[in-house]
Amino acid sequence: MVEEILSLAQPVNERLVIKRNRHVPVGNNYKTEELKRLCVVSGIHGDELEGQYICYELNRRLNEHPELLRGIVDVYPALNPMGIDTMQRGVPFFDLDMNRIFPGNVNGAVEEWIASQLIKEFADADFAIDIHASNLFLREIPQVRVNINSAEDLIEYAQMLDVDFVWVHQASTVLESTLAYSLNSIGVKTLVVEAGVGMRITVDYCERLVNGILNLLKNEGMWLGEVDPVRQPVVSADRAVSFINAETSGVFVPTIRHSSQVIPGEIIGRIVDPFEGKVKQECVSPVIGLLFTLREYPIVNEGSLIARILGEN
Ligand SMILES: [Zn+2]
Repeated sequence: MVEEILSLAQPVNERLVIKRNRHVPVGNNYKTEELKRLCVVSGIHGDELEGQYICYELNRRLNEHPELLRGIVDVYPALNPMGIDTMQRGVPFFDLDMNRIFPGNVNGAVEEWIASQLIKEFADADFAIDIHASNLFLREIPQVRVNINSAEDLIEYAQMLDVDFVWVHQASTVLESTLAYSLNSIGVKTLVVEAGVGMRITVDYCERLVNGILNLLKNEGMWLGEVDPVRQPVVSADRAVSFINAETSGVFVPTIRHSSQVIPGEIIGRIVDPFEGKVKQECVSPVIGLLFTLREYPIVNEGSLIARILGEN
């Protein structure tokens, strides 16, 4: 059932409305408070749209077989609806990254108040999945990113999500203001998913993630339906990540497919000069490993990120 969880008058005769689609088991031979609950959230960054298709497909699959559900699944496609409507990453008018204001403040500015209400909304969930995408410049393989401090609790669940890669990253102060950090610190196991490219939808990645979410539900006894076998992701824990950056400006043309395995010296792409008709840089891999990030937007300047490679042990 689609319902409003928050509605706020705007100065221009509009309302800011945040909605969820709640799925509960059919019949009433259960007590709501005894059921496990998963929240799937997306659209906190308004220009990351992969989650829109994931929410659509997850809602569709759950609607199709309500009799197979044994827990509560709440789906929130748009935590920053004004950002989505106006093609902006942040919250329009405030020039604000909504994922830097959690846990919010009930006595703060409007957006801080919204953040505090969202934390209340999610606080009694067992799990949350916060779906992001990359930006317009870089394409990412489906991955889960976990903070090293919560890795021990989360890796087991991250591995259920049918992703290629679990990136365990170092703690950093800025991350303390994210939704995921706030929820993990109050005991809601929260996984941050990153996939694809900004402002686009990569249907096959989205379908895998839906399968992964259903797989997590099944593992937790919340879903009795069939799921496809999931991949065992590479976990970054002890592996080095190498970066390839542009040494010159120009037009980057990849010569390799994203998510390939590469070897030292292998050419990933070329930076060419459209005026001179010359190759300005051959971008080569320094290591053996998995090319998990690849430049999508062709125009580069000196220092632009071209690729990231996860080295083998
Ligand atoms: Zn994001």
